[in-house]
Amino acid sequence: MQELTPYITQLSLVRQLKFCAGHRLYQHESKCAFFHGHNYRVDVEVAGASGGTEVDSIGRIVDFSMIKKRMLGWLDDNWDHSFLVFAEDANALAAIRMVQPTKYFVMPYNPTAENMARYLLEVVAPSVLTDLGVVARRVTVWETDEACAVATLVGDPAEITIAIKSAVIVDSR
Ligand SMILES: [Zn+2]
Repeated sequence: MQELTPYITQLSLVRQLKFCAGHRLYQHESKCAFFHGHNYRVDVEVAGASGGTEVDSIGRIVDFSMIKKRMLGWLDDNWDHSFLVFAEDANALAAIRMVQPTKYFVMPYNPTAENMARYLLEVVAPSVLTDLGVVARRVTVWETDEACAVATLVGDPAEITIAIKSAVIVDSR
C-alpha cells in the first residue's frame, strides 16, 4: 500500500508596501507606450532562511517593521516618485534626462509589473533582507486594483543562486 505524504507546515508573512512611479513599456503596441504612472502596491512574502516553522523567542519569523524598513526604504529611495525605464529605451532615457530635477531608475528589462516583481525578488530582496535570516519567497506587484504580477522562488532557498542584474539609479536633486 502506498504511504501518504505528510503535510509540512511552512510559515511565512506578508507585508504590503506602497509607492508611486512612472514608466512606459518600450515597444508596447498600445497606450502603455506613453509616459504614465501608477500607484503601485507590492506584497512581499517572507519566510525563514531555513524554512519550516522556525521562529525567534517571541514567535516571529522576523518583525514586520524590519520588512517595512528594508523593503519600503529601498522603494522610497529608488522607485518612489521615480521613472522606471528600460536600458534599451534610448528615446525615453533621453527625454527623462532632459527634465530638471529628475529621478529615474534604469531597468535591465522593460518595467512591466512582471519584471518589477522579478527585480524585487531576485535583486532587491536578497540584498536588503539576507542579514535578517529571511528569504523573500514571493513578490506580487499590483499595478491597479484589479491586476497584479507574481514572482515566486521555487526550490530550496539554500540551493538557489541568482544572477544579479545591474541597474542604475539617478536622482539629480
Ligand atoms: Zn503602466
